[in-house]
Amino acid sequence: MNLTLPGGAGFYLNRLSPTPLIPIRLHAGPEIWCKLEFLNPSGSTKDRIARYILEKAWRAGDIGPGSTVIEASSGSTSIAMALACAQLGIRFIAVMPEGVSNERVLIIKAYGGQICLTPKAAGIAGSIAETERLAAECNGFLPRQFANPDNANAHRYGSAREVLDQIPGGAADAVVSGVGTGGTLVGLYQGMSDAGCRVTPVLAKPVKLTWEADIECCSFSPCIPGVVDSMSTIFKNANLPDLCTIEVPDHEAVAATRELMRKGFPVGPSSGLNFVAACRWAEQSAPGSRVVTVLPDRMERYFTTELFAAQP
Ligand code: PMP
Repeated sequence: MNLTLPGGAGFYLNRLSPTPLIPIRLHAGPEIWCKLEFLNPSGSTKDRIARYILEKAWRAGDIGPGSTVIEASSGSTSIAMALACAQLGIRFIAVMPEGVSNERVLIIKAYGGQICLTPKAAGIAGSIAETERLAAECNGFLPRQFANPDNANAHRYGSAREVLDQIPGGAADAVVSGVGTGGTLVGLYQGMSDAGCRVTPVLAKPVKLTWEADIECCSFSPCIPGVVDSMSTIFKNANLPDLCTIEVPDHEAVAATRELMRKGFPVGPSSGLNFVAACRWAEQSAPGSRVVTVLPDRMERYFTTELFAAQP
């Protein structure tokens, strides 16, 4: 089958539509507004950064037919980049630490991406170093999600604006998210602040999250001490004022993820993490407060992880 898309390479980049923002009210308390980011085309919020960064690079002539894009990620960003590159008709190499869930590898391959595994012991830092080496070797383009301000800008000029358009009254009181690169929390906070919204940034911090698949969103987890945190200059440089933190034990994040699934939201564990933290924040907020959070990705990339193991 030779499928030709209307609009050619630009088709993918133009076709993303706003993800729904839905309210969940807890016992007549404050409202939690959930941005259903798992409904993006590749299954996660990372479609936004893939689109934003690659579109800019394409327009600037930094990539084009024949280019190779290389990114370090333990999953979602690589999947999103693989799909974007497939749509653009260019080569993609995902560099990931050994031990990431096989589902992710299979999805990236299905999108035509190539996989390069780096030693588990070197963590995501080892993968980042390998991207630099590979890029030098094949003149590849590096999106550099951990350092590229356009990661946060994708949310600042994308998801933040969607939220403000979608939420009644065009304002929120708090934005709650776990942090991998920090792009989501930083960008949502900045975009809402740009619009004059006084919004409190709230970090959803996993405590003792233990499975490999979530390495990216567990920068603060004791099981991967500081590995990703030390890589992300986006979050550090943003130095968010009045940053608050809600700690969420892993079993609560998992239980909430399963609960969300059974309510019709087929999400991954960082959605449970975010939702629990948003609920905690909402419980201690004034009546009428609007708390915004995101459900970042879909469940199918966790089938062989603890999320689906030992179901009660
Ligand atoms: N959820 C999932 C599934 C992720 O993969 C990540 C990080 N890539 C996050 C949440 C955190 O997003 P961010 O990188 O924007 O901080």
